[in-house]
Amino acid sequence: MNIPWQKSNALQKRASRVMPLGVNSNFRFWGEGITPYMQKAKGAHLWDVDGNKYIDYRMAFGPIILGHAWDEVNAKVAKEIELGTMSAMTYELEIEVAEKMIKMCPGLEMVRFACSGTEATMHALRVARAYTGRERILKFEGMYHGFQDYTLWSTYAPVEAYGNRRNPIPVPSSSGIPRPLNEMIVTLPFNAPDILENTLRTMGETVAAIIIEPCMGNCGAILPQKNFLQFVRRQCDKYGIVMILDEVKTGFRIANGGAQEYYRIKPDLATYAKALANGYPLAAFGGKKEIMSIIGHGVSQGGTFTNNKPGVAAAWATLTILQREPVIKTIEKRGKRLMDGIGKIFSEAGIPFCMNGYPAMFSFAIGVEKITDQRTWDESEKEYYLALVEAMMERGVMPDHDPREPWFLCYAHSDKDIDDTLMAFQAVVKAVKR
Ligand code: PMP
Repeated sequence: MNIPWQKSNALQKRASRVMPLGVNSNFRFWGEGITPYMQKAKGAHLWDVDGNKYIDYRMAFGPIILGHAWDEVNAKVAKEIELGTMSAMTYELEIEVAEKMIKMCPGLEMVRFACSGTEATMHALRVARAYTGRERILKFEGMYHGFQDYTLWSTYAPVEAYGNRRNPIPVPSSSGIPRPLNEMIVTLPFNAPDILENTLRTMGETVAAIIIEPCMGNCGAILPQKNFLQFVRRQCDKYGIVMILDEVKTGFRIANGGAQEYYRIKPDLATYAKALANGYPLAAFGGKKEIMSIIGHGVSQGGTFTNNKPGVAAAWATLTILQREPVIKTIEKRGKRLMDGIGKIFSEAGIPFCMNGYPAMFSFAIGVEKITDQRTWDESEKEYYLALVEAMMERGVMPDHDPREPWFLCYAHSDKDIDDTLMAFQAVVKAVKR
């Protein structure tokens, strides 16, 4: 990339001496000399340490639903932390956030808080196992449910390692994941009801939970095919399996009530983080009272920071704003214009593409016309995608460097931001050789 990142590069060198890869999450390392370090974020914009400004479409991997450093959220946090950040006891504010969540999300009857999406899925899996008395977990290839060991399987390509579609091989996505966990995980391609049905026919009664993102939010935003989520719901009912809908990315983003409202589906449990608190650390899991009620009755869940006041106060303010203002509607209007505009530019250039996702989080795959799972997504032109993204960054627009990661929008993205982005995209498609 041809961006003056002198200060970033110097910081990367310094950081690499004290933090592996010079970052605190593998996903924030884009490569030696091509990893920007940030100075400031406000509204829909980012500024790196070299003073370059970007229209941000990463939104911190999704949490920023209103805009960076949203004044009303910050003010609520500042007010509440004056009264103390923690007391290892419960505040009324937590109850209010739980009540708001339950009001907004159709499938929630009770919730418990956690600190990150990873923790939320980890707790939900334990509750599902405790409730069913079973240990096996079923997940879908290319879906990501956080860094805990139970579901960090078959998350990243190479898809060649996944074996045959009808009889997939679960592939751990990291060294250090205990091998015996292989006995407890089943991985299947997304959007393949026949394969799911066959698999459950032989082992359905040994499966504790099916954990599923509503769309492939960590692989090209591939949407569920018509009625696939409902099919999963019915299969879970048939075999007494707990359906865990992982709404860490879709929650409070694709609708106020997330995918449950959008698809009119009630899972048994659901997990949240990201947009719940507009960038402050709070996560949650919740669902049916009958299942959630086993917590505290022989089932453990907790954590010192699970009711951290900045996170809880930020969630309170974020949900209040979502309920009061047309946040998602506004994002939908602008996001749709961006999706349509990008599609038009590709069409006019004669480049085959496939647009996926929702206006608030979308992605596109190039060189393919239809993708339904990670295996078909893997056939898309990822190097060309990357070249386009890098050229966009040179023009002050920042989607994520990883083609699996969707483009995220927030309430603060203006019509002008969309116009500027489309103008840059038009130039980039002309300039970058396919
Ligand atoms: N589930 C999903 C669907 C996610 O997208 C993510 C994060 N990208 C997680 C879980 C993990 O969340 P966290 O990074 O907060 O641990």
